[in-house]
Amino acid sequence: MTKGFTGTIARVNLTDGIVERLEMGKDFYRTYMGGSGFGAYFLLKGLKRKTSALAAENIITIAPGITTGAAVSGVSRCCITALSPETGGVGDSQLGGSIGPFIKRAGYDGIVITGKAASPCYLLVDGDTIEIKDGAHIVGKTVLETHDALTTVHGDKNISILQCGPAGENLVRFSCLIGDFNNVAGRGGMGAVFGSKNMRAIVVKGKGTVEFEDNDTLKKLAKLAMNRVPGSGFPEILQKLGTPGVVGPQAEGGNFATHNFSRSWHEEYLQLHGGTYDKEISAGKTTCFGCIVGCRKKVKAQSPWPVTDRLGGPEYETLGLLGSNLDITNAVAVAKANELCNNYGLDTISTGGVAAYLFECLEKGILTSADCDGKELGFNDPEGLFWLIDKIVNRQGIGDILADGFASAIEKLGEKTRPYAIHVKNKVPAVHMAQVKPSLALMYAVSPIGADHMQNEHDWLLTSEAELSKSLGILGGGELDCADLNKVRMTVYSQFFYSLLDTLSLCMFCWGCGSLFNYRDLEDLLQAATGWETTMFELMKVGERRVNMLRQINMRQGFTAKDDVLPERLFEKLPDGPAKGRCVDREAFAKMRAHYYELMGWDETTGNPRDGKLRDLGLEWAI
Ligand code: SF4
Repeated sequence: MTKGFTGTIARVNLTDGIVERLEMGKDFYRTYMGGSGFGAYFLLKGLKRKTSALAAENIITIAPGITTGAAVSGVSRCCITALSPETGGVGDSQLGGSIGPFIKRAGYDGIVITGKAASPCYLLVDGDTIEIKDGAHIVGKTVLETHDALTTVHGDKNISILQCGPAGENLVRFSCLIGDFNNVAGRGGMGAVFGSKNMRAIVVKGKGTVEFEDNDTLKKLAKLAMNRVPGSGFPEILQKLGTPGVVGPQAEGGNFATHNFSRSWHEEYLQLHGGTYDKEISAGKTTCFGCIVGCRKKVKAQSPWPVTDRLGGPEYETLGLLGSNLDITNAVAVAKANELCNNYGLDTISTGGVAAYLFECLEKGILTSADCDGKELGFNDPEGLFWLIDKIVNRQGIGDILADGFASAIEKLGEKTRPYAIHVKNKVPAVHMAQVKPSLALMYAVSPIGADHMQNEHDWLLTSEAELSKSLGILGGGELDCADLNKVRMTVYSQFFYSLLDTLSLCMFCWGCGSLFNYRDLEDLLQAATGWETTMFELMKVGERRVNMLRQINMRQGFTAKDDVLPERLFEKLPDGPAKGRCVDREAFAKMRAHYYELMGWDETTGNPRDGKLRDLGLEWAI
């Protein structure tokens, strides 16, 4: 087998308990490469049209990348792919930590799970042994309780645990998966897919080693990263302050969602900035396997709310969605809400998004406390937010309504609430504001997985890294504000590149545009891992292939261009702050979207890949 791979993918059917070991052959590996590329392949091959994300027939894949397990920064993430209970289309989410390396060490390039267990279970992957174990004793337990219960049985050495929390068990449509209690595959409701399969966790024990072709080059790349961090800008900030360290600069650029996305900065944003609150509640940091950046900040507090340091601290997105977007600027309050979400297994972005929707409907008088079980709720109310999180995870009253996401909530709470439901394909956008980033506005609309901020490079970096962009053949369109054909070209190319990163399970903070490594380093990395004589041409095609497979899955689920739309609020002018007056220009956006379909080789009416494009990518089997 090519070095970097184990040559085996495990397939588990929870309905009949059959475990298979698939040997897919070298061409498969070179074509789909790993991570989300594998996920897209197994879903597109194996799913019937219009499968419900919560049906036993849904398929979920957990796949690391080719380089996972190498001692180089940012090369060991893990991709989760399945139909999303949040959007109904394809879902894809990544996490760091050590679950990826442990899957490789256990001897697998990926795990594919389908079916539904008859009773609560967890999966034990221990080298050649894969067992479906009775999970009755962990039903209803929090993430921390479950982790402790499973490590009591299986030990806490050479082990990694991926689990949904009680939110996933209760099929909350935006529940997440947690790796070793502080690494989160947050988006798309992957926790509910676990819950729908009666599978609470996967325990992976791995003692084997992963072999690579050229360990000397891998060591050189590891050293390069170490030398490049000082003076690197973004990675250096991440090393010192984690993602909370960008709250200040982002808010000052009018890029910090506030009051349900109606504003783009909060006067008290500095209270949520990592550099400010770090002194009060920092509790050190952790890192993903082999990464010297170590951006995973931990926090700890005693008052006004006790916060444990075991579940990790709030990231930039969380500080926005559970903070400024709810007008909460007390960092301990956000840390507490983050702790609750992580311990229950809720996506902090979507939880914040549905809370903001409810609070604005209450503020506008469209709903009243009678709709909230008599509870007075609103913006800038941490205790109210904690209460609501509890109701969502336990599916009680208003929490039960919100747990099913926006489409269902609008049906139950009334059409008048629709303007305040800020989402694309039922998924809440990140804290990054589409009003100030035209390429992000486009990507929020057209991404197969719904509004997501990690699918392409944002305008700001594309602009500042013009030289790097040139090496991808992007020569113009760097102006921040422009929303023209050049910007679309940049968006498309950077989408292919980011799609490649998710296929290789690489971290965008290390391998993204203008970060620690450049495109030539990426070719070197792949060659060192596998021995392949690869080029960026081949690699960009791999990224493009994955985007088209994801889109093709959505086509089979019934999605069309009609779903590639933005919430109305984003077309309204921002009322104040550094980005005052900015909005998504309706006409420019429509033109960008049309150009995007054209450049992608997708049908302009349906928004779906044309047969010729699928053939171009070697996907004729998916026509
Ligand atoms: S930069 Fe942060 S998220 Fe990325 S691999 Fe390193 S520690 Fe993990």
